[in-house]
Amino acid sequence: MFAANWKMNQAPADAKEFVRQFLAYFPRQQDRTVLIFPPALTLHAVTDALKDRPDIQLGVQNIHWEDKGAFTGENSAPIARAAGARYVLVGHSERRHLFGETEEQTGKKAAAAVRAGLTPLICVGETLAQRDAGETGKVVLRQLRAALAQVDPNHVASSLVAYEPVWAIGTGKTASPADASTVHALIRAELRTLTGERGEAVPILYGGSVNTGNAPALLASPHVGGLLVGGASLEAEGWASLVRA
Ligand code: PEP
Repeated sequence: MFAANWKMNQAPADAKEFVRQFLAYFPRQQDRTVLIFPPALTLHAVTDALKDRPDIQLGVQNIHWEDKGAFTGENSAPIARAAGARYVLVGHSERRHLFGETEEQTGKKAAAAVRAGLTPLICVGETLAQRDAGETGKVVLRQLRAALAQVDPNHVASSLVAYEPVWAIGTGKTASPADASTVHALIRAELRTLTGERGEAVPILYGGSVNTGNAPALLASPHVGGLLVGGASLEAEGWASLVRA
């Protein structure tokens, strides 16, 4: 599974051109799923451009935890679903660290996503200080439990998880495949505890300065079921070669 987080980039016209080029480089492939998370204002343009490629799925980067109401400037899960989104990022480190999103809020957002028929892609990851203090496992598992705490247990196994160390996002630094694998194994064990055998099927993605050079080794690591990519997903040819990795 390959997920592109465009963050606050790609206006509708840029996105359409991106899709036109990407489709030329990336014919339909059965053995991989591609997800794109455009900015909410660009979602409509991308939905339209991808109408003949149902193998490429779309999501939004954030939702509010309420379904509707007086929350000026926010996007709701039911509206995102109606606009073509099938996935939503929950707990991305930029939401947590730049916008002060709490673990309790990530839990409410994941529950709202599931209620609306969106699959949450739950992002967890430690800061450099937490890593240096040997707290990676503790932090990641606490974030994961909080994010899933309010999700209907029957839906936990249909969520997605991404391990994204904060110190690796947009920095050019990447967790080694062995380190990523160790954390993914912890996440897998926790998913098993929460959902039994069904936890085996939850794809666990790695994110943090992934590029065409480091993608193959990360993907070859045990428990790494895909990649969540920011910067390297913004240029169509490069993103297509990463997805074909
Ligand atoms: C991200 O935004 O989720 C991300 C992993 O960004 P980058 O690939 O640019 O580090």
